Amino acid sequence: MMESLLNDRAPDARTIRENIRGIRERMAEAAVKAGRDPGEIQLMAVTKTVPASRVNLALQEGVRLLGENRVQECCEKYQNYACGANAIHFIGHLQTNKIRDIIDKVGMIESVDSIRLSAALQAECEKLEKSLDILLQVNIGAEETKSGFLPEALLPAAKEIRERFPSLKIRGLMTVPPRAEGDYWLQKTRELFEKMKDSSPEGHEPAVLSMGMSEDFEAAIGCGSTQVRIGRGIFGERK
Ligand SMILES: *Cc1c(COP(=O)(O)O)cnc(C)c1O
Repeated sequence: MMESLLNDRAPDARTIRENIRGIRERMAEAAVKAGRDPGEIQLMAVTKTVPASRVNLALQEGVRLLGENRVQECCEKYQNYACGANAIHFIGHLQTNKIRDIIDKVGMIESVDSIRLSAALQAECEKLEKSLDILLQVNIGAEETKSGFLPEALLPAAKEIRERFPSLKIRGLMTVPPRAEGDYWLQKTRELFEKMKDSSPEGHEPAVLSMGMSEDFEAAIGCGSTQVRIGRGIFGERK
């Protein structure tokens, strides 16, 4: 991707640093308010449209996790990132024909949204003789415009994936909930995550609840999120 297609209004280094400090403070306050240990909540920097040079400023500031939405954009930027593949998670809708391009560039796919995608990931893992950490994406509000398992399909899907696709390691749940008044959808996701834990084999309980973005991360932390995905709050508005 040409740099000119990327966000040329990205804030300077100092602003990115201050943004990250501000987000971290608010994360810690939200955690304490919810009676949680701030150390159990990870900050992901979501990089869509942001040039690698700006993304590296976030890494310099101690951010340990990047979120990538688009396969092509990730492939063009990742070599310039000052971090390894394990620190990069894929969070966008993944087409099966793009699996091969992305699978060796990320440490986790957070957006597994169908059995069909899971089957294709399993096949690629077998070829490469590797296992893959995944999150199941849940379309908690059953919105037509969003991908993800419907809430009622989530637990059966987790069971099927565990049984049929042994190379895929389910680490938890990811969601982009509807914008709504209050915590309704965040609470619904927390309940589903608890059920998912209860129905997992002992010793394999999922630990990651990836929930919360720039607008709602404090509420998400109040509802049990262990990973917030922040784009604009760190890098400014996208074009
Ligand atoms: C863009 C995006 C984010 C970050 O959203 P912001 O509102 O910029 O913080 C988080 N998660 C996903 C899946 C996204 O696509």
